[in-house]
Amino acid sequence: MSTKRIKKPEGLLKHTHCKNCGVSIPFGSEYCGPECEIDYQKFKRRQQYQLIAIVAALIVVVAFVFLTR
Ligand SMILES: [Zn+2]
Repeated sequence: MSTKRIKKPEGLLKHTHCKNCGVSIPFGSEYCGPECEIDYQKFKRRQQYQLIAIVAALIVVVAFVFLTR
């Protein structure tokens, strides 16, 4: 009989990870520093633009399919 026991890591102190680089930071903050925050905002904006581009492309494809039926 095997007992599957997930060993929880020590130091279960409330902490979180930097949204940008993943470094452990005190609970309550989102980034390890202002530079990471700026970096993350840039990354997020780029991601949003990519999403908009994908959605726009899909709309064009759907419109094309409907118009050429
Ligand atoms: Zn960071």
